[in-house]
Amino acid sequence: MKNPVCRDGQIRRPGLVRILFEFLFPHYCKVCGRRLDPSEEELCISCFLGMPRVEYDMKSINPTERMLLGQHSLVRAASLIHYDKDSTYSNILFHLKYWRHPSVGTWLARTGAMELKEKGFFEGVDCIVPMPITFWKEMKRGYNQCTYIAKGIRQATGLPIINNAVKRVNEHSKQAGLGKYQRWNNAQDLFQVTDPSLLAGKHVLVVDDVITTGATLCSLIDVMEANIPNLRVSVFTLAVAD
Ligand SMILES: [Zn+2]
Repeated sequence: MKNPVCRDGQIRRPGLVRILFEFLFPHYCKVCGRRLDPSEEELCISCFLGMPRVEYDMKSINPTERMLLGQHSLVRAASLIHYDKDSTYSNILFHLKYWRHPSVGTWLARTGAMELKEKGFFEGVDCIVPMPITFWKEMKRGYNQCTYIAKGIRQATGLPIINNAVKRVNEHSKQAGLGKYQRWNNAQDLFQVTDPSLLAGKHVLVVDDVITTGATLCSLIDVMEANIPNLRVSVFTLAVAD
C-alpha cells in the first residue's frame, strides 16, 4: 500500500475485504478525481496534505469569527478550509451538496473535529444543530448536507445532534452572484424555532457547509437568540470564503 498512515495519524492497513471492494467498486478523489488506494478515504493523500487549511487557536480571532462579530451569544467559531470557487477544492462542496456524495462531509468534519477537540474547541458544547434547509429542498436533494457534517463531528466528539428545534421556513433567492448588502437583506425571516425547550440553557454548535458573508448564519443565530433563553452558540463550517 502506498499510504498506510491515515490522515488522523493512525496506522491503518486495509484488509483483504476492503482491497477487494475497492477493486470492484473503485472510489475517486473528491478533489483531483484520481482513483483512490484502498488505504485512502474520500481524498487522495496529496490533495489531503495540500488542503488550504484555516489555522485555529483559542487566542486569536479567525476569519469565521470575524464574519460573526456582533452575535452576543457567540462563544467561538472555526472553519476547516479556505473556500475559493476557482480552486479544485471547491469540488468537495459540489460533491457534498449536488453530486450526492455527502459522505465526504462526514469524513472531512470528523477529521477536522478530531484536531479541534485537541485544541479545546468543543469544551462546554452540549449539542450540535445542523443548519436547516427547507422541506422542499431536502426532498429534492434527498438529504441535508449539514446533517452529514454534524455526523462527522458526533463521531469525533460523541455530542448529540438535535434536528427538530429549528426549521427553515423560507428559501431566499439564490445567494450566489449577489453583493454583500443584497445577501444580508436576502437572509431575513428564513428560520423559525419550533421547540425552544430542546435548546434552552445550552451551548449549541451550529454546523454549516460554507460561510461566505455570514448573513445566513447570523439570521439563524438572531432567531435562536430571540426565542431561546440562556443560549450560547459556537459555529463550525467546513469552508470559509474569506
Ligand atoms: Zn486528489
